[in-house]
Amino acid sequence: MARITKKVFNDLALWMMGFGLLVGVIFPFFMSLLGVSNTITHALWFRFACIFAGLLVGLVNITLAKRVVEKRLKTLASHMGDIESRLGEISGKNEPIDCDNLTCHITVDSADAIGDSAIAFNRLVDTIASSLKMEMNLRAYTQMLSKHLDTEALCRNALETFLVDFRSESGAIFVIRGGDLSLIEAKGISEKSNLIHNALIQEVMIDEQDRILTLPDAIKLEGVLTKYRPRQVLIKPIKYKQIMLGILLLGKAEEFEASKISMLDIFCNGLGLALHNAITYDQVQRLAALDSLTSFYNRRFGLIRLREEFVRAVSNDGFLGLIMFDIDHFKQVNDTYGHPVGDKLLKQIANITRSVVRDGDILVRYGGDEFLITLVGASHTDTLEIAEQLRRATSESRLLINNQAIQVTLSIGVVSYPNNRCENEIDLIDSADHALYIAKDSGRNQVIAATE
Ligand code: GH3
Ligand code: MG
Repeated sequence: MARITKKVFNDLALWMMGFGLLVGVIFPFFMSLLGVSNTITHALWFRFACIFAGLLVGLVNITLAKRVVEKRLKTLASHMGDIESRLGEISGKNEPIDCDNLTCHITVDSADAIGDSAIAFNRLVDTIASSLKMEMNLRAYTQMLSKHLDTEALCRNALETFLVDFRSESGAIFVIRGGDLSLIEAKGISEKSNLIHNALIQEVMIDEQDRILTLPDAIKLEGVLTKYRPRQVLIKPIKYKQIMLGILLLGKAEEFEASKISMLDIFCNGLGLALHNAITYDQVQRLAALDSLTSFYNRRFGLIRLREEFVRAVSNDGFLGLIMFDIDHFKQVNDTYGHPVGDKLLKQIANITRSVVRDGDILVRYGGDEFLITLVGASHTDTLEIAEQLRRATSESRLLINNQAIQVTLSIGVVSYPNNRCENEIDLIDSADHALYIAKDSGRNQVIAATE
């Protein structure tokens, strides 16, 4: 910037002096034309005086320009250099940008080319500052996405970021689970329970296209979608590799800026990838914890859950019931009707079990045709009652295969804490197993309570 200023002034000096010289040379001829006597205009002293006067005017011009213009240009240049170095320091760091209009803008104090330069510079600073801010937000957002593998926590944090970065007052994130849309997180939404049935959400679910709804001032829409009166509502599918995983909704009291809408695509793509990872992780967790045939906990996870509940019951002086049951003569079913029918029967018994227990009770496939039910907070009497309900419901049910009704019965062992003496969950299982053995030994299709 300083080099350009110097060049400008050198050029200006030469031009001014050259112009002064020219005026000094031609001025005597003008004087002749105006009728001044040739003896004066052709006199050497007059010519020199004109040339000197021209040079003097040039020099005065340069001096004035230097004093007034150079000073202002230098101020402009040093301010620009200062802001440029501040922006340079900020870029690459994950710090808030300390650059508002007051500290980063050059004062525009003249309606001339210098004023125009200041205006252009201020605009440039605004653009750079906003792109640095966006870069910083994007970096923080990407870090946040990579931190969460749990779908709920991911959606909660992502929505918070969307609301702040896109200056929206309300928003929601839905995720598609098992083909159905579920609302995971919502902020500033008036009727969360109805949101999922909203026509726009349903349309996006079907055609997988973005929607931007701009509400005209004349239309009153209080209470629709958001708690306040939105100006714009944006609904966007969240996709990963063209597969729709969920929907984002944002509502804003003003219109979204065009640049923000294109930024939203980048944010949504990031969320798509993170959501895909979280969903995959959920599935892996499920696969690791659940038995694929019955969707009960598998033995390993079931025992972990039983231990947790036993420890809780002991520390809270609470109750805990444990039922262990095994299908009677199940091998015969496999031998007579085949393994697939045996599988159907296992599923049917799993469903009967679900129908007699409460939410929160822990269902475990302990072995081939052997199951455990941990009844959280159930007394000994409650546990015996549930075991009897299960025995009766199973013996009364029939599995229809090719017009043939297959009937099976269960042998059940029951134990409970603190009714039975037990130091840990293994003692509980051993007691239930012993009671089950007695049930089998005494003719099957019966419930036996552990005595120890
Ligand atoms: P008991 O009354 O003494 O329990 O007789 P049982 O025939 O049921 O004997 P047991 O419990 O020892 O037999 C379990 C059978 O369950 C043996 C195995 O073929 C069958 N089984 C284990 N897992 C599965 C499975 O996933 N599907 C099917 N169809 N059968 C299974
Ligand atoms: Mg059996």
